[in-house]
Amino acid sequence: MKKVALHWQILIGILLAIVFGYFFPRATPYVGWMGTLFMRALKMIVVPLVFSSLISGVTRAGSGKSLGRLGFKTFLYYLSTSLLAILTGLFLVNLIQPGLALEGKVGSLPTMPDLPGKKLDDTLIEIVPENFFHSLTLNEAMLSVIFFALLTGIFITRLRTDQKNLLTDFFNAFFELMMKITLFIIRLAPFGIFGLVAVMVAEQEISRELFNSLGKYMLTVVAGLLFHLLITLPLILHFIGKVNPFAHYKAMAMPLITAFTTASSNATLPITIEAVEEKAGVSNKVSGFTLPMGATINMDGTALYELVVAGFVAQLYGHQLGFGEQFILVATALLASIGTAAVPMASLVTMSIIFTAVGLPFEAVALVLVVDRPLDMLRTATNVFSDTCGAVTIASSEGEELLVSRQVLTRS
Ligand code: ASP
Repeated sequence: MKKVALHWQILIGILLAIVFGYFFPRATPYVGWMGTLFMRALKMIVVPLVFSSLISGVTRAGSGKSLGRLGFKTFLYYLSTSLLAILTGLFLVNLIQPGLALEGKVGSLPTMPDLPGKKLDDTLIEIVPENFFHSLTLNEAMLSVIFFALLTGIFITRLRTDQKNLLTDFFNAFFELMMKITLFIIRLAPFGIFGLVAVMVAEQEISRELFNSLGKYMLTVVAGLLFHLLITLPLILHFIGKVNPFAHYKAMAMPLITAFTTASSNATLPITIEAVEEKAGVSNKVSGFTLPMGATINMDGTALYELVVAGFVAQLYGHQLGFGEQFILVATALLASIGTAAVPMASLVTMSIIFTAVGLPFEAVALVLVVDRPLDMLRTATNVFSDTCGAVTIASSEGEELLVSRQVLTRS
C-alpha cells in the first residue's frame, strides 16, 4: 500500500480531531494524553538538537582555508536578513493585531505561568551562564545554551587539526543522531496534533471570532513572508548584489517550488546548489560554503513566523509586550531560527525557546498548529530563497561574474 505523506496524515488527524472534539467533548481526556506526550517530546529534544545543530553548522563554516572573509560576509548577510524579516513580522503583528478579537475568549488556553516579568538587562546578562551544565537542565536557559554552542563551534575550528577533526566528527554524528530522533517525533505529529486539537475543540466555543482571528493570524504571516520575498530580498539583490531580481526569481524557480512543496530546506538543498551554480553562475567555492550553512542557520521565514506566533499568543492572553519584552522577542526569534532544523515543522521545536523567554505557556501553540502546514510551505520557500540571495550577493561582492548580474544581462 502506498504510504500517505505526513502532511496529509496531519490534515486527516486535524479533521478527525475537530469532529471528535465537537461531538464527544467528554471523551477528550482519553485522547488528550497523546498531545501532552507530543509536547513533552518536543521539549525533550530542543536542547540537544539546537546545541548539536549549531556546533555542526559553525564548524562546517569554519573548516577549509581562506574562509575568514567569506565567513564574515555570510554571517553578516544571514543575521541582517533574518533581522529584517523579524522586524517586518513585529511591525505587522502589532499593526494587524490578529489575537485581539479573541482576547480572553479562548476556552482551552492553559493558564499563564506566574513568571515575574523578566527585565531586559537581566536577560542579556544571563545569556552568559554561570554554570553551563545547569543551563542544560533549565528550559528557560536556552539562550545560554545557544551562546555556549556558538562559542564551542567557533573554538573547535581553532584547535589542532587532529583534535578539530575528532570533535567536528563527533558533533556531526551527534547532530545526525538528534535529527533522527527529531524526525521520529515529527512522524508522531498526526497523533499528537489529534490529541491537542481534540481537547482544544472540546473546550472551545467554535466561534466566528476564532476563525476571524486565525484568518488574521495567517494573513499576518503570509503578508510578512511575501513582503520579505518580494520586496526586502529583491532590494538587497538589486542594490547590494547588483543582480537583476527578476532574472534571479526565474533562475530559482526549481528550488522555490521544491521548498514550497517539501517544506524542508534540507531536502531542497541539492536542488538549491544546482540552481545557484548552473542557473545563477555562482562558483562552487561560494555556493558550497554559503548554501549548506544557510540551509541550517539562515531561516528568515522561520524567524518571522516564530515572532508572529509569539505576538499572536501574547495578544490572546491580553499580555501587552513592553519594549524590553519586544526586544527579547526579537533576539530570541533570531537565535531560535538559527537553531531550527531544516525539516518540516521544525519551528515547533524551537518555538518553546521564545515562549519561555517571554513567559508564555508553550501549550498555547496548539491553536496555530491547525494551520501550520501552508505557512510552513511558504516560510520554507522564503528560507531557501534568502539562502540563494545570500549566495549570489556574496559571490558578486567577491567579483564573480554571474549569469543573473545586471551587467551581464544588459551586455547580452
Ligand atoms: N520547515 C522549515 C525549513 O525546513 C523549518 C521550519 O520553520 O519549520 O526551512
